[in-house]
Amino acid sequence: MTTPFLADLHIHSSFSDGKHSIPELVDFYGGRDFGAIAITDHLCERRSVLGRAAAYLNRTLTEATFPIYQEILKSEAKRAWEKYRMVVIPGVEFTKNSLSNHRSAHVLGLGLTQWLDPEGDPATLARGIRAFGGVAIAAHPVSTRKLEKQTYHLWDHREELRAEFDAWEVASGAKLFDEILRSDLPKIASSDLHHKGQMTSWKTEFDCERNAEAIFQAIRGQELRFRFYQEKSPQGSISACDLVGAQRLHALAPRAAARSMRDFIFSDQLSQTSPRTSRL
Ligand SMILES: [Zn+2]
Ligand SMILES: [Zn+2]
Repeated sequence: MTTPFLADLHIHSSFSDGKHSIPELVDFYGGRDFGAIAITDHLCERRSVLGRAAAYLNRTLTEATFPIYQEILKSEAKRAWEKYRMVVIPGVEFTKNSLSNHRSAHVLGLGLTQWLDPEGDPATLARGIRAFGGVAIAAHPVSTRKLEKQTYHLWDHREELRAEFDAWEVASGAKLFDEILRSDLPKIASSDLHHKGQMTSWKTEFDCERNAEAIFQAIRGQELRFRFYQEKSPQGSISACDLVGAQRLHALAPRAAARSMRDFIFSDQLSQTSPRTSRL
């Protein structure tokens, strides 16, 4: 017998351009009863000017920082499980930023505990992630409608790349991507959180065993659903999954709600603007 739990599988720490340390993030999510999180710091390719700039600014993992990043993730995973019964999945966000948005792509690798060279093309990276037993996710592949770096390469090449990825982000933060929603690509929703002010966002709910492998299987089999999580106060003193939002959807679209585990939740909260992000 399993109990459904919320997961946020795209989160940045101070190892790249996130504001908070990994222990802070564990306590932040653990205190809100999340069942799983993935820390996915940027790992920028070194060849591009923007990648080198990120390295110069210490906004990316490097081969030098990768071992300590993994060590902290491992010890925090143990602490998170003992204290909160929350799974912490090690991950990276392979970050290929070109001056052209159409040549830029971000690839999430969940379950990656070994160094993987970030210079490869997206398909090579996805294959590398999967060869390690991990899950490859196409991060924010369409316009985020925000003033920030856009990454269209994966969406531009979706037909040739669809078999390479286990899921495509249907939401990033508070924004739901209509193009992905309407597509038949496998989906996942995460916050791409860089600071606590971005907690109000779409998340993914699982109903499986609380371990990384079960979660990966659920992603591959698309046994998941999406929820809009509303942070109740800026301080986060009270928080809960916004079931009101979900119930509103059920009232609006009972057939959609009953259809499958993948019941997409539309709500007027989508029109909310999220705080400015500072992501790469
Ligand atoms: Zn990204
Ligand atoms: Zn990100």
